[in-house]
Amino acid sequence: MKLAKLLTITIMALCGLFTTGLRAQEGDQILDGIGETALTARYVFDGDLRDWSRNNLHAQYNGTEVDFVKDDVFGEVAWLKPEDINGIKLPNKLITTEESLTISGWFTLESAIGVSLLDFGANEQNHFSIGVFDGNLIAKIVTKNKEVQTKKEDIKPKNWHHFAVIYNIVTSTLELYVDGKLEDTTKISNNGLLQLLGLESSDNSNFYIGQAITGEKRRDQVKLHDFRVYHVALSAQQIQRIYRSSMEGEAVVNERQQEDDKLPKFDPDTPQLFNAYLKSIEDIEVTTNVGELPRLPSYVQAEYDQGINKDEVRVIWPAPKDNENVQKVGTYTVEGKIPGTSFKPKALVSVKDASLEAPERMVTSFKLSQVHLNKDSKGRGTKFIENRDKFVNTLAKTDPDSFLYMFRNAFGVSQPQDAKPLGVWDSQETKLRGHATGHYLTAIAQAYASSSYDEQLKELFAQKMNYMVETLYDLSKLSGQPINSGGEHVSDPTKVPFGPGKTDYNSDLSEQGIRNDYWNWGTGYISAYPPDQFIMLESGATYGGQNDQIWAPYYTLHKILAGLLDVYEISGNKKALSVAQGMGDWVSARMVELPTSTLISMWNRYIAGEYGGMNEVMARLYRLTGTESYLKVAGLFDNIKMFYGDAQHTHGLAKNVDTFRGLHSNQHIPQIVGALEMYRDTDEVEYFKIADNFWFKATHDYMYSIGGVAGARNPANAECFPVQPATLYENGFSSGGQNETCATYNMLKLTRDLFFFEPKAQLMDYYERGLYNHILASVAKDSPANTYHVPLLPGSVKHFGNPDMTGFTCCNGTAIESSTKLQNSIYFKGKDNKSLYVNLFIPSTLHWTERNIEIQQVTSFPKEDNTTLKVTGKGRFDLKLRVPNWATNGYHVSINGKEMDIQVTPGSYLSIDRKWKNGDIIELSMPFDFRLEPVMDQQNIASLFYGPVLLAAQEESPLTHWRKVTFDAEQIGKFIKGDPSTLEFNYKGIEFKPFYQSYGRHSVYLDVSLD
Ligand SMILES: [Zn+2]
Repeated sequence: MKLAKLLTITIMALCGLFTTGLRAQEGDQILDGIGETALTARYVFDGDLRDWSRNNLHAQYNGTEVDFVKDDVFGEVAWLKPEDINGIKLPNKLITTEESLTISGWFTLESAIGVSLLDFGANEQNHFSIGVFDGNLIAKIVTKNKEVQTKKEDIKPKNWHHFAVIYNIVTSTLELYVDGKLEDTTKISNNGLLQLLGLESSDNSNFYIGQAITGEKRRDQVKLHDFRVYHVALSAQQIQRIYRSSMEGEAVVNERQQEDDKLPKFDPDTPQLFNAYLKSIEDIEVTTNVGELPRLPSYVQAEYDQGINKDEVRVIWPAPKDNENVQKVGTYTVEGKIPGTSFKPKALVSVKDASLEAPERMVTSFKLSQVHLNKDSKGRGTKFIENRDKFVNTLAKTDPDSFLYMFRNAFGVSQPQDAKPLGVWDSQETKLRGHATGHYLTAIAQAYASSSYDEQLKELFAQKMNYMVETLYDLSKLSGQPINSGGEHVSDPTKVPFGPGKTDYNSDLSEQGIRNDYWNWGTGYISAYPPDQFIMLESGATYGGQNDQIWAPYYTLHKILAGLLDVYEISGNKKALSVAQGMGDWVSARMVELPTSTLISMWNRYIAGEYGGMNEVMARLYRLTGTESYLKVAGLFDNIKMFYGDAQHTHGLAKNVDTFRGLHSNQHIPQIVGALEMYRDTDEVEYFKIADNFWFKATHDYMYSIGGVAGARNPANAECFPVQPATLYENGFSSGGQNETCATYNMLKLTRDLFFFEPKAQLMDYYERGLYNHILASVAKDSPANTYHVPLLPGSVKHFGNPDMTGFTCCNGTAIESSTKLQNSIYFKGKDNKSLYVNLFIPSTLHWTERNIEIQQVTSFPKEDNTTLKVTGKGRFDLKLRVPNWATNGYHVSINGKEMDIQVTPGSYLSIDRKWKNGDIIELSMPFDFRLEPVMDQQNIASLFYGPVLLAAQEESPLTHWRKVTFDAEQIGKFIKGDPSTLEFNYKGIEFKPFYQSYGRHSVYLDVSLD
């Protein structure tokens, strides 16, 4: 049989859509069509007890050795002898949240008399056990007062069986599947397991495979294969798939899977929410250039029944996969739809032959050190200060040697006394190690720039920065140089040989297996592992934990280079630039030799080829140094298929074709940030189009109300964009989570960068949304622990990780950056220093040193709906005040107490160009209102906002359905009670709080009807 092989080859392909439309990205760890973020741990047992997931939760022998034996079905499997107490011990960190749980695995017994397969809990009075006893497979939860169990009788000995046990807290059921079939279900309470078993506040859990917590001996021998723990409730379909993939060899490469649709369904022909009051809509006319798909507005003018205070409606337009309709000058009509109605809005498109506009970068940011966060107008700390302090104060306590540990380990250099390695994705054998170090360099540089309120703290960060750079500099100087002059060495990056004694390149990073022959690595090389992963990527290596597999070497390198350049730009440390240049040269030397076909293959390989923003950092290195080769290499990172459709540049994002549907969100957003940096450095307008078109589509067709963009149900991967634009309800809301936080970090970066070219209020409206409702909302109550996904299904809860900064995922990495630069977009200025943009209403002081002017912003916003700007200094400049898109209730400006007579449009900037005097006071008020923001394709599923603040219904427990709420159709806030100065409200017994202030279970989306 070819089953063992099946488990190690790439099986499901989920996220990509390339030339053929259905060919997908591949990756072993998304095995069986289940997004890998839902997987906590996986023990294949093919010769060791390693965790195959990316969480490094390796198991251990417990007392006795585990034997691995040959098996006809699965190749090599674990074997536990009878009449023994001990089995396999798993880390007690395996279950850390109160969410649902799925445990699945394969076993075969000699006689089926009695063996514990899996058992965990505090003690024999409180545990969760799965085992075979007297021929029955039983999954049971034992607590002091109660025992609940599910059972399958008559388990045949000498046969392999697959079991899956689901602890589902949403449906309050315990389910037992055997060989892909649901055999038994029983009702449970909807408490999480940690609470139920008394494991909430302690580390006293025991987690075993093949061993009973009761201490009973195994009465049988047992063989084990492929045990997995998921922190979601898998669907029947997914369990069948796990079973069939192994037993029947049905796993197919390049097949896209859709999650079971557990979301409530609504009649597609019933108009929901305001669409039920719709009377008429207006057709529109748009123009476009030959070759470019028109940008159709998401909303068109509409008329509603009397009393409904609305004048536009959301339209869903077709989303072609090419630009066939716009090949020549002429006109054509596009017909859209309005969900739930028979209205068919039309867009008359005129295709013209016009030249492309190339915007100039006219706006720029202030340095972090020029803007200070202040307390609010009532002397209270703000959420911004609170989050900044959590991060800055914890960063101050970090040990740089932890972040240098794996670099020293790679170079075989001894560690300073007491140096401790980081965990999670920077552990010894994790192929992404070093990624946190890049984020760390950026974070400490930003903390240094932001902490002039405390000179000691600032000095501490200066020391950390210098120490980091000195060490990395010294290590990088070792690469490709002989230990003693005239000694053996390879300085050419393209000639790096195999590691000593090895017959191939490999990614083995174990203490025993890692190569340390840095003299052979080529001049300038720096990373937290040897060069093999880069070389293996060129020759086709895929993503995974095996030694012939890799994990995104260029992604990690981007973080390191960006960190070095941030240190250089913020502190002027030339050694930081020099290390980046050395590695930039190393990369250039290898990349220029690769044929285009190899590059396309590399950048389209799932996860393996994820390169973060390598295009951005290489272009930036060119901008900072003027060295042309860096710009050339930056261009080699172009994602040709997404950017241009194909090598001939026939369509793609450059022509406004949505080529990113279904793709991995955070793999691709940084590539777009890079495209914009390329535009800055090359003036090639296609790059601008790519970024601008992407941003418009991402924020209009894929965005959740908190500003996040990832979380597909189809394809079934919580990290992907849905397969079709503007179908968030149909294809989004993955049960594995939504809103990967690092993706929003990157969206904000892109948004800012676009604003510098085109200062549109729409961009800052999005920025404000993402900043308040995702970035601020992603941090734990009492520590800098932070979120990966932010789930928005009914009754979800946020999960926070990395409180003490000792083990980083991607999102933990971007979090230390986000919260050390919270002030970076409050104010921007014209490049000529003749205009000042006030984008955000955050208590702060701007030191506009170039003009010798200081602006103090005094406010308690958003706990009040007004703000005051005080000018110190004098001079003429154009003050541009953001008029938010939500400010539909008026916008008032007075200068020195005198109200201005102004007409403003929400979603614009108000310009006041005058000679400002010392002591001038500008007061803005923009009364908040309650409003609903529906999901585009299911209008009754909507979020409640108050001004810029997303309000979440506070929930007691998980829900199977969206919380139903009826609002007044004419005035949403009519009966909402509460205090705007606390932003806490109550409506018909439901408590609403700002999402950024919600730590328990929440409903961000409601099932809304109107009356
Ligand atoms: Zn992430």
